[in-house]
Amino acid sequence: MKVVDIKTYILSSSLERPFAYSQGWVTKRSTTVVEIITDQGVSGWGETFSVGLQAPEIAASVIESVLKPLIIGEDPLAIEVLWHKMYHYTRDYGRKGVVIGAISAIDIALWDIMGKVTNQPIYKLLGGAFREKVQAYATGFFRTEGQGESKKMVSEALKHVSDGFDLMKIKIGFGIKDDLQVVNHIRDAVGDEIALMIDTNHAYSAIDAIRLGKALEPLNLRWFEEPVVPEDIAAYKHVKGQINIPIASGEAEFTVFGFRDLLESKAIDIAQPDVCLVGGFTACKHIMALAYAYGVEINPHVWGTAIGQYASLHLLAATPISHHSLFAQQPIFEYDTSPHPFRTNLVEIPINHVDGWVEIPQGAGLGLNLNRDFLKKHGTLFSHSLIHQ
Ligand code: CA
Repeated sequence: MKVVDIKTYILSSSLERPFAYSQGWVTKRSTTVVEIITDQGVSGWGETFSVGLQAPEIAASVIESVLKPLIIGEDPLAIEVLWHKMYHYTRDYGRKGVVIGAISAIDIALWDIMGKVTNQPIYKLLGGAFREKVQAYATGFFRTEGQGESKKMVSEALKHVSDGFDLMKIKIGFGIKDDLQVVNHIRDAVGDEIALMIDTNHAYSAIDAIRLGKALEPLNLRWFEEPVVPEDIAAYKHVKGQINIPIASGEAEFTVFGFRDLLESKAIDIAQPDVCLVGGFTACKHIMALAYAYGVEINPHVWGTAIGQYASLHLLAATPISHHSLFAQQPIFEYDTSPHPFRTNLVEIPINHVDGWVEIPQGAGLGLNLNRDFLKKHGTLFSHSLIHQ
């Protein structure tokens, strides 16, 4: 079996109304999707998640100009070998960021092919299901004005509760005063039975993150995500040492090498690799083994399109618990509640929660049927000629 072609698509769609997270205003949704085609009629899908304000053309260019020539003609089932080939070839200018995001898309598509060839869902190829369904947490709370929106945030929280969510993550990082108002008001409105997490998208210095965390300690938060910038592990350690809230991070970290530095520094309590960024399933396997050895829980980050959601559910099924007990806390599925056409329309059966729970896909490979009409209409085939224009 041989890879005969890789097609790279850019998807981009403007938002009716821009929204803000702590790092800027988001005006459009975009992503990079690949299809790897083999000589035996089987093909696989993968995605590089476009983070925040990232242009999808960067990953598309890496795939077309660097990775595609390395993969064409190769056996798609030699996934670990190909991962190392891509990583070594790009080491001097890769290691983190978009290059690893591009490798992720290729790796996910190779696992999709392996699943289709063996007629098994990917989670079985990863070692089997620790769970058949996962509890979802609502992610949302984006701003349309910026500061001073606590009333609107409370209404959103109540809507998530009425939609069946028992867990939710609040986007903050809009200034400590504003953050405290938003989180305290939401806790007052939803009561103590709803699990809350906070995410500042590295908006703060260590001292401000500690100030914020200390003020929120009585609210019994499940985790505090990305308090400080990802490159400052010392700041993470400082924050973790000062506040009594589990610290989560990893969506802006890459491969087992990046997670090794975080884990051996004892900088975090919960590791959050994103399968569409961190280096695909293969990198997640490496990281899961390392996190298990360090006694750190894995709770994957999920954001991209339906492809990323399907991939993340396979990963979540196969994620072990680092601290076993009869009633151990299980990893949860990040469920984006903001409008996103590529999450709902790119596949024939979009991922939906029922009373706050999501089933693990059972089809071969990723288990998704891509909506090719939608891709044709909204995707642009990124050709090599574009790179040299
Ligand atoms: Ca986050």
